This record gives sequence, structure tokens and C-alpha cells, in this order.
Amino acid sequence: MSQAELGIPTGSRPLRQPGISAESLYEKCMTLARNLWWSWHPEVVNLFRDLDPIRWRQLDHNPISLLAEFTPQRLETRATEMVLHSRVNHAYRQLREYLKSGQTWGATQAGVLGARPVAYFSAEFGIHESVPIYSGGLGVLSGDHIKSASGLGIPLVAIGLFYDQGYFRQQLDLDGYQHEEYVDSHVDNLPLEPALCPQGNPITVEIETREGRLLAKVWKVLVGRVSLFLLDCDVDGNKPEDRQLTSRLYGGDTRTRIRQELVIGIGGTRALRAMGIRPAVYHLNEGHSAFAVLEVIQERMHQDGLAFDDALREVSQQTVFTTHTPVPAGHDRFDADLIEEHIGPLRDKLGISSEQLMGLGRVEPQNEREPFCMTVLALKVSRRANAVSSLHGHVSRRMWSSLWPWRVEEEIPIGHITNGVHIPSWLAWQMKQLYDRNFPAAWTRKMGEPEVWQHIHRVDPGELWETHNALKNQLLAFTRRRLSRQCRRRGESDEMVEAARTMLDPSVLTIGIARRFATYKRADLVFTDIDRAAALVQDSDRPIQFIVSGKAHPADEPGKALIQKIANLRLDERFAGRVVFLEDYDINVARHLVQGIDVWLNNPRRPLEASGTSGQKVVLNGGLNFSVLDGWWAEAYNGSNGFAIGQGRSHVSDETTDARDAADLYRVLEDELIPMYYDRDDDGLPREWIGRMMNSIGSLAWRFSSHRMVMDYCRSAYIPAAGGLSCDMKM
Ligand SMILES: *Cc1c(COP(=O)(O)O)cnc(C)c1O
Repeated sequence: MSQAELGIPTGSRPLRQPGISAESLYEKCMTLARNLWWSWHPEVVNLFRDLDPIRWRQLDHNPISLLAEFTPQRLETRATEMVLHSRVNHAYRQLREYLKSGQTWGATQAGVLGARPVAYFSAEFGIHESVPIYSGGLGVLSGDHIKSASGLGIPLVAIGLFYDQGYFRQQLDLDGYQHEEYVDSHVDNLPLEPALCPQGNPITVEIETREGRLLAKVWKVLVGRVSLFLLDCDVDGNKPEDRQLTSRLYGGDTRTRIRQELVIGIGGTRALRAMGIRPAVYHLNEGHSAFAVLEVIQERMHQDGLAFDDALREVSQQTVFTTHTPVPAGHDRFDADLIEEHIGPLRDKLGISSEQLMGLGRVEPQNEREPFCMTVLALKVSRRANAVSSLHGHVSRRMWSSLWPWRVEEEIPIGHITNGVHIPSWLAWQMKQLYDRNFPAAWTRKMGEPEVWQHIHRVDPGELWETHNALKNQLLAFTRRRLSRQCRRRGESDEMVEAARTMLDPSVLTIGIARRFATYKRADLVFTDIDRAAALVQDSDRPIQFIVSGKAHPADEPGKALIQKIANLRLDERFAGRVVFLEDYDINVARHLVQGIDVWLNNPRRPLEASGTSGQKVVLNGGLNFSVLDGWWAEAYNGSNGFAIGQGRSHVSDETTDARDAADLYRVLEDELIPMYYDRDDDGLPREWIGRMMNSIGSLAWRFSSHRMVMDYCRSAYIPAAGGLSCDMKM
């Protein structure tokens, strides 16, 4: 359709030929879509959404899929209709300037890293819901880490795997039982491009095993200024079963697992070399990628003519390891035959015996019954190791003290850097507007600084309360939409489908419970005394309601039973419509929840939560945390910035711990939390509650940001590991 046909005076843009401008508009939109920078810029997100709000939602907020449905001409027409041209141009210019700008924290503070980047290895990256290569907390943390590295201008490249089926989609049946569905994603619809070597050719890496060789191609994803490289075994030349090797995250048996870890560690290191990238620092985010270090040692031995031990010492100086798992079963362990099959050829090049190799992965090197543990390898080959919260640091030092039997526990060389979240990704647009109005100009460039956030105390309480409630209403609308869709798909009655559209009351205190359904996280703790919980939910003056979400690992039957128990509360009249389960927890569901919830309930069995980050996202948006003093909350809670369960003690038996925590949970809910929420002044404002919201934002937002976290990594790990002069402080 021409402009004249649309009733737009053609004379208004006389100097542009329609064809050329349509093409260039399309190009600009595609350029924006192909750098995930867009995902943490609400104005660009809104731009894509405005192209077609319904398709945007249906396509999982994937701008590449969306643009694929447009011809340049139709895009031009739509842009004219919606007056989008200047917004596209503005966003495009912002991206270009961002990519060019050299004035960053990293440029001034981390200059030593300059020419040679940090190589950040992680088995998953959670950047946006449209790129499904993550399962949960570890992935979202990696995503937030590289986004902050981009924002701070830290020279960093990231290495992971491309899972074309990602993690599963969750659906519950009429019995509330979880089913897993794996969906193929299409490379064409993702912001992936082949990674190239300096000569301009695509890269394929080769990894020999005792049973033949494995091939992997390499994709590149742009995340702001950071390049993320993803290895993919779906290539010609691999055996059919190997082509599937990287299709699923945490799928398959131990053999699949070690082969995936071979690809990320050794394949990843070879890919960097093929691209001509020579990292100054290797950061192993969790033990999955620890084989990388063996490959770097091999490289150093052959380049510099070093002996194995000398190369190991040098490489460990450059290696940083972050452990995330306080649960012993969470650490990968492999038998000697699997290790020999996969690491044997590399071992030949390293010139070490299989006993020596196995010794690197054992607490007791000579113990032939001990399997090879990736965490042990990572600890032995990295000069700097850290846990992800202060409490987790204590737990990790105790857990691995047998590796340093001659040291007292405090001197076990595992420090901590507490996790944080990427503020631009998790902060609701409406809250950002509120901060923009009340915080110093350019505050977003100082998100990691405490002073900035003190301005929250100057915000008008009514304004903060209204903003929060607007976000809460959005969450409830989202929840209802999802619930009615779930009901329909599950084949529930028309009545149920209809009822879902009006479930949950915006004036009722709303508690969110969302996490992986592992039994130690005790998602059902608040339902321990079911009658007491029912009384709270049904209270006529001061009722409460719950939104629950989360996946159980496909092999975790007790976790699935827990989901079933909570999902089936809808069959109990006392809870129907007041405790709802949202299927398919992902970054999108998480974003809605953390932005709109009143209270975020987290009650793992202490001290099993390494850090947790979802509660940090809640802080930014004005929700309050109500948590066991575990992980990050143990160091965050100050008595007036949220609510605590328990006194930070651990008990001998799980039964005792669970009973005491449940009792305390009910006590705080009944005596403090619910009364405070419903205590309103003449303007209808819960003054004391709003005061807590302000305390929470003011005391926590900067500290638990990933900008602060990445700055900590730079100062206490990356810079010293790169041989910089910065003090080598204990992490
Ligand atoms: C933030 C986030 C997590 C991590 O949250 P926890 O506090 O560790 O439960 C997990 N999954 C998703 C989708 C998230 O956004």
C-alpha cells in the first residue's frame, strides 16, 4: 500500500525513496534484534512489541521471528502507522554509540585486562526467554554476569553450549503431575551467526576420544559488547547420536554429561584459539567446564616448552573458579573408564599417567575407589576460588577442607563473592520511571553505588505504593490470562476456564513462591499445617493469596510430587482461586512475578541455598522478601528491610528444622507481616510497610546488583589473575 493510499501526504518525506527507506528501516530493526542489548532496554522492547503486540506475545518476545513475518514494505507501513521511525533511529543510534564508547568503568579500572579478555565458561546462559539455553538460577546468573561485563566495559568473552531443544517446557495434567515437552528451536529465528576465524571462515573444532572424534561448530551471539560463543555438535561428520549431544540441557546419562563437558571445556578452549583469542583469565562458572584448564596446560607446554607441573602452576594463576553447589550430589563425578575414554588422548599429550590424571579429580589422589570430581579438579587447578555468598563460603570451606588437610578451616582458600542481578533486566519500566524522577541524573551509570539508592527515602510514599500496585495489577492480569489458557489446554470445564479469568484479588496480600522444585527448597512449608494455612487464606478481614511457579528436574519424582501437592490445592474449596500454580516458569514468568509481587517467600533448608537471586530482583521493584536466613538473605536482612524466618540456626534433623521453621513462618506471618500490610492510614496507605519497601531498596539494591558483583570479580579475581598490580585480597 502506498502512502497516498494510506492517506499520508507523500510530500512529508520527499527526499527518501520509499523502497530504500523501507530496506534501511528493516536493516536497522534487524541489527537491533541481533544484539541482545535490546532485551534490557524497555524502549526497544516496546518498539518491537508495538509492531504487533499479539504476535509479539505469541512468539515468546522473539524479535527475529517477529521481523521474519514482515516484508520491508509492510514494516515501513506499520512504522508509519505507529510513528515508529524516530524511535527506531534513536534506538539504533544508541546501540551504535554504546558499542563504540570507550568511557567505561572497565577502561579506567581494569585496564590491565585490555588486550586479553577474560574467558567466562558456563554450561547455561539465561539472557532472555527467547533464547532458551538456560534452565534456572545458574543460567540467569551467567546471563546477568555477561550483561554487567558489557555495561562496565570489561573485556570478556563467554563460552557455552547451544542446546537446540534447550530445557523442557512444563505442562501439568489434570492430576497436577508435571510433563516435559522439548521444543526444537530454529537457528534462523535466533540471534546466532557462525563464529569466524581471522581468515573469515566458520570454525569447527575437533576433540579426539578413545572411541573416535567429536566435532562441534561454533555460534556467536552478541550480548551488548560481549560475544558469547556457543558450541553445537549437530554437524556433518558426527555420528547420529553425537549430533544430538548438545540438544538438551542437563539431559541424558553420565556419558552424555561428560561428553557435553568435554565439548564446552576442551572444545571451547580450542574455539577461542581458532578465533585468535588469547584470554588473560579463565573463569570457570561452576565445575562443568573445568576440563578447559587441561587444554590450556597442554597449549602452554607445547608453546613454551614447559613441564606439566610448571604449566599447571602458571595456568592455575590465571584461573578463577566459582562454586555454586552446597549439596554434595550436585557435583559431577565420573568413573575412571569414562575419564580415560574422553580425556585419554589429551592425557597422552600432557605426558601424565592415568593415576596422575585421576588424582587431579580426587580428594585422595591414591584412592582408586574415588571417582573423578569436576569440582575437585576445578579447585586444584585454580589459584582463586569463590563461593557465592558469605554463608556459602563457610559451607564450601568446610565441605572441601579435606583437600587442604594441613590448614584450619578459615584458611581454606575459598572466598566468596555474593551474587547479584542485572538491574536493567529486572527493573520494571514503571519503577525505572519513578527512580528517574527522584534519583540524581544519570543514576543508571552508578547503579552499583550505595549513595544513589538513598534517594528512595525522598520518594513520596503514595507514589511508590501506587507504582507497586500498578505492577501488581499487571502481574494479576498476566496470571489470569495464563491460568485460563492452562485450564483450557488441560481440558478443564468451561466454568473453570472462565473462573480463571477473575481469580485473585488485587487488594489481597499476594505471596509469590517460585523456584526449582527440589525437596530441600520446601515449597510446601507454608502448607505444613493445612488448616492454619486455610484460615489465613480465608480470613475475612486480612486474607492472603499465593502465586506458585517452578519446574522439577525431569528425573526428580519427589520434586514432581511437591508440585502436584501444591497444584492440587485448587481442588480444595478453601484454596481454590487463592493458591494458583503458573506453569512453565521461565525468565518471562519470573519477570512478571518479581515485578508485581507483594512478598517473596523463600524457605530452603539452611544452609543449602548457595545464594539465590530471585529475591534480589524483587527488591528492585519494591516487593519484600520473607526468607530463611540462608544464602544472600543471611547477609542482607537487617531487621527492617524485609522479614526473616528462623534465627539462622541449623538443627540436627531435618524434621526438627522443618517443624521449627514452619512454626516461625506462621508466627511472623500472623503477628507481623499480615498485620503490617493491612494497617492503613487515612489515605489508605500502609505506612510502615512502605517504610520497609524503602529500606529494602535503599539498603539492598546496589549491593545485590551484578554490576557490584562483576566489579568485585574484577578487583579480587580477574585483575590479580591477569597479573595486575591490584591487591590480591581475600575474596
Ligand atoms: C532469577 C531466576 C532464578 C534464580 O532464582 P533463585 O532465587 O535461585 O530461585 C531461576 N530461574 C529463573 C527463571 C530466574 O529468573
